Amino acid sequence: MIRHLTLCALLLAGAGVLAAEDKPATPAEAAKVEHLKSDQWCWTHDLPKDKCTTCDRKLIPALKKSKDWCGEHEIAESLCVKCDPKAKERIAALRPTEKPKDAK
Ligand SMILES: [Zn+2]
Ligand SMILES: [Zn+2]
Repeated sequence: MIRHLTLCALLLAGAGVLAAEDKPATPAEAAKVEHLKSDQWCWTHDLPKDKCTTCDRKLIPALKKSKDWCGEHEIAESLCVKCDPKAKERIAALRPTEKPKDAK
């Protein structure tokens, strides 16, 4: 009987822990920025997929055409952290808030 009660107490304690972890992970203030969807993001290179020239070299001519190209570092100028440290903030503002579980 005592053993049965202990088990019940353990189960209750476990349920309490689960409930505490169920809170939303993202703070409300993050919602005001326009984040991309996780399928629009290259999680390998931490860039928007449509500007990730490492994954898709075919994007380069289009970026060059729109004058958004850093020839020195071979990346979209607007995302070139080496030329503009503020690009880091721009990337962070676009990065999806939720990383898919299968992303590397
Ligand atoms: Zn990539
Ligand atoms: Zn650059």
